[in-house]
This record gives sequence, structure tokens and C-alpha cells, in this order.
Amino acid sequence: MNKSQTSHVFSVDLEDWYQGIEIDIDQWDAFVPRIRNGLDPLLDLLQESNTKATFFVLGYQAEKTPELIRQLSDSGHDIASHGYSHRFVYQQTPDEFRTELRKSKVILEDICGQPIDGYRAPFFSITNASLWALDILLEEGFKYDSSLFPVKNYRYGVKGAQRKPGWITTQDGNRLFEIPLSTVRLPNPAMRMARNIPMSGGGYFRLYPYALTKLLVRCLEKERLGLVFYMHPWEYDPDHPKVEFPRAFPKFTHYLNLHTSAEKTRRLLSDFQFKTIKNCYAEHYLSASK
Ligand SMILES: [Zn+2]
Repeated sequence: MNKSQTSHVFSVDLEDWYQGIEIDIDQWDAFVPRIRNGLDPLLDLLQESNTKATFFVLGYQAEKTPELIRQLSDSGHDIASHGYSHRFVYQQTPDEFRTELRKSKVILEDICGQPIDGYRAPFFSITNASLWALDILLEEGFKYDSSLFPVKNYRYGVKGAQRKPGWITTQDGNRLFEIPLSTVRLPNPAMRMARNIPMSGGGYFRLYPYALTKLLVRCLEKERLGLVFYMHPWEYDPDHPKVEFPRAFPKFTHYLNLHTSAEKTRRLLSDFQFKTIKNCYAEHYLSASK
């Protein structure tokens, strides 16, 4: 096997299937939990390739299955926060966001016995409407964020956001280490401009043929950029229930090509070398900001 030498990040947004589909937390008790149905095949794939991942864990799920999160942490995976309720950040007030963030941090630190210093927003929902959240992350002791997606769609994205991991300046003038989701810059001569093609994982990974993903990762490597890859446990559980969504398009992307996730992931892990965010970037985000 001839893997490239570039270090890529494997991340997992750890939530159960009904938590990431725009159904409010008040209704979650009605759904049957299946976290292990998807997580176990994913963990098998990671183990087969001797890969450790960063798990952005939803606080609500951590409360339900603390032993599972402890097991992940004890086996060398990296634990970070995915908030508590999976509500869009831009639909929360700054106070609500802070309360939820604090709650998730306490839950995860109690379980893992170590500081939780990374965050990823539900639905990548730190956008121009919620950039204030980045200052609150710093105030609450977080060292890095991995929520910004340099694209623009109906649900998330910050057009013009930097594509490379590095320090960003927040609204209040503070410095925060940002690990944006991966995009490939594609020239568009017809419009005399370039645009960012999302290719970071999740629905994009399930939509694209594996050969296209591989090509796009090679494009990143030519720029000396590592892929910041993300998946969810439910993407490895193609038999999870089909329910009605509040909106049609998210339903389409949620269930798209679920049966392809495992095999594509096996190939990705075979072709490229992945690490946790901590292993790739801690020396940067733990250094004093400049
Ligand atoms: Zn999520």
C-alpha cells in the first residue's frame, strides 16, 4: 500500500440518526436509539486501518451513553464538542449558545477526565449571522473551531472564509484557530471567477463517486492541504428509519447513497493517512496566538 504522506483529519460528528434532521430536541424521546448500528461499523473501519479520529460529540448523546464516549476516549480517539441540542447556532441567542456550550463541555470533561478544547457547530451553522459565536468559544475556554465551511448554501457556509487551517480574527478582534471544512478551488472561466467545491465528507462523499473524491483529495495535496473529513454514525446505518423531514431537500441528502458509505470509507482509509485534529494541529492551536 502506498499512502500519500500528507496528514488528513478524520472527524465524526457523533449524534444519533434523529438528532441531526431538524427535529427539535423536545421530540427526541419519541425515536428509537440506534447509535451503535452505525458507530460499530465505523469503528471497525477505523480499527482495520489503525486510524484515530476526532469525535465532535453532542452533549445530549453523551448524557445518554457516557460509557460509549469514555470508551472512545480511552481507546485514543479525540473528543470535542458538538454543542448540546443540535439547534442551529444562528437560531440561538448568544446567551443560549453559551449556556449550551458550557453544558456540553462539562458533560464531556466529566466523562473523559480531560479538557475539551475543540468545537464544531451543528449543521456547520456558524455563518455571517452567528460569527459572534467564535468569541464565546474563546471565552468558554475552547482552543479551536471547526465549523466554518467556505461555501454558501441554504443551510450553512461563509462565503470568502479562508480555506486553510490557521488563525482567524473574530468580531471582537481576538485570535482563534480555525479548521475549516475542505473545499477545492475550481476555476470557472465562464463567470471569470473561481468557486469552492465542497468535498469534505457527509452527503458530498456519498453523492460523489469515490474516484472523484480521490481526485479532489489529490488536488488538496497539490496545495499542501490536508483533507478535513467528516461523517456521522448514521451514515453507516443504511437501515435507519425513514421519517418525514420539515423540509424536502435535507431529507433527500440525509438518505442519499447510505449503502455506499462503508465501502467508500474503506477505500479512503486505504489510500490516505488520517489523524485526529489534536495530532495534526495541537502544536498550532495550543501555541500563543500571534
Ligand atoms: Zn451534527
